[in-house]
Amino acid sequence: MANTLENWLRAAPLPLPEARILLQHCTGLSRAQLLTRGRDALDGENEAALSALVQRRLAGEPMAYIVGVREFYGRTFIVNDAVLIPRPETEHLVEATLARLPPQGRLWDLGTGSGAVAVTVALERPDAHVRASDISADALAVAARNAASLGAKLEFAQGSWFAVDRPSETQVYDVVVSNPPYIEAGDVHLQQGDLRFEPQQALTDFSDGLSCLRALAEGAPHVLKAGGWLLLEHGYNQGEAARALLVQHDFVEVATLPDLAGLDRITLGRKPA
Ligand code: GLN
Repeated sequence: MANTLENWLRAAPLPLPEARILLQHCTGLSRAQLLTRGRDALDGENEAALSALVQRRLAGEPMAYIVGVREFYGRTFIVNDAVLIPRPETEHLVEATLARLPPQGRLWDLGTGSGAVAVTVALERPDAHVRASDISADALAVAARNAASLGAKLEFAQGSWFAVDRPSETQVYDVVVSNPPYIEAGDVHLQQGDLRFEPQQALTDFSDGLSCLRALAEGAPHVLKAGGWLLLEHGYNQGEAARALLVQHDFVEVATLPDLAGLDRITLGRKPA
């Protein structure tokens, strides 16, 4: 085998695609350069840097945190361990939001995290007025970096659900959207895979999994216009409970949409006109 960096990488204790990404991340070399340059293109410093990244990956840290980015809706979002790594399921939440946001519409994304939903909507619909809030200042800093690097204009507020530092006028939003923490306390998934490295307060409500969905269903009617929509992402087994919450708070046209795997993932409803 030729003495290329690519062939040398085959000996790394990681799947080759991951090893490639890590080497490119710490050297800045292109994929073509990995195939053509020899092993001697790597100096001791690069090799030490790569070995540190490989160790982190072997310890289970998600690739997105190691390289600091994740693709979402065709764009590159900055991520760090202050925010959940954007999931493909959540692209569906963006689509459902875009379909319901009227021209010049006003959107509030609560618990924005990396800003994946809010920034994407702001870019897809530059006519919209988008507000993004989060309880975590560190998460808002990531969302603001994403807005700046991708060129999105939006408004930020810090606080827990509707109790934010920049209170909104009442009943002005066309769409309220959230991908809140919805995993039940003690769920084994919290101890597995990527979730072990993600902020626990972005994943679980430390309760029955429904308390944030409850707060959102209860608070949204106070900020939504008549006829406005609430869209909530939730767990595959929470569709029935989410619909019941929306019905209890007088939402109409309540429905649950499946994700790409066919599982209940988004429940939505409309404030009566
Ligand atoms: N969908 C995520 C997961 O199960 C959880 C996201 C969330 O709690 N909002 O990995």
